[in-house]
Amino acid sequence: MSSISTLNADLHCHSVVSDGTLTPEELAERAYANGVRLWALTDHDELGGQARAKVAAKALGMDYLSGVEISVTWMGQTIHIVGLGIDAEHAVILEGLRHTREGRSNRAQMMADQLLKVGIPGAYEGALHFAGNHQLISRTHFARFLVEQGVCRDTEHVFKNYLIEGKPGYVPHQWAKLDDAVAWIKAAGGVAVIAHPGRYKFNAMQMDELFKHFKHIGGVAIEVITGSHSPDQYKTYGKIAQQYGFLASRGSDFHDPHESHIDLGALPHLPDHLTPVWSLFQ
Ligand SMILES: [Zn+2]
Ligand SMILES: [Zn+2]
Repeated sequence: MSSISTLNADLHCHSVVSDGTLTPEELAERAYANGVRLWALTDHDELGGQARAKVAAKALGMDYLSGVEISVTWMGQTIHIVGLGIDAEHAVILEGLRHTREGRSNRAQMMADQLLKVGIPGAYEGALHFAGNHQLISRTHFARFLVEQGVCRDTEHVFKNYLIEGKPGYVPHQWAKLDDAVAWIKAAGGVAVIAHPGRYKFNAMQMDELFKHFKHIGGVAIEVITGSHSPDQYKTYGKIAQQYGFLASRGSDFHDPHESHIDLGALPHLPDHLTPVWSLFQ
């Protein structure tokens, strides 16, 4: 069993197709060079990079799972659900994601209006510039603009002082419903994974409800080893995976060589006693 848990699988990262700064090809090369042997690109609400990522992985001799990270509103908060092993051309998930992306542009305009009120002009155009040709404008693109403008020293500083609840530039948004996101992933033949559960600000009862409900609707795994968790949280969510009968996933959530604390593949292995989500794809 140990060989399967020590596989260097990195099943969560972002390319220029959403809010990362590297192309799918650059990510594939970086992942492979860092020792990753099973990889998934999981752009936010977008499948536009999947074909390129798969081709690039294959050329390097690296196993690949098509992936996505879906934004979901649950109990008034945004949570992320990763889908792995999906058919990236399946009509149900393509249509669902198209719906989810709608409204991002309006939201971005409202975020820019708020920033203008605190004396920061041009944020919409600035964020759009960072989003490149890709029309998926996210908070990360606004964060990079605020760093470029010298408003904050880095994006971490931005996410403490701007763009979050109670701070300038925060605009609540209704993302996909949890049941829908899981249904799209299942319809496309994939498995649903709760991304970085340690990041959500729910109380213990709400977390319990989230895990139980997710399991009830066919969710199968949670991220245990992720760039968004502290070493203590590796332990906490390892226990939770066992307690609720979830498979365990591992992924850096890599976005950019300078912004991201953890590089592709540069994470601890999954603990031996957990069953990796990739056991489903062997
Ligand atoms: Zn996420
Ligand atoms: Zn992510």
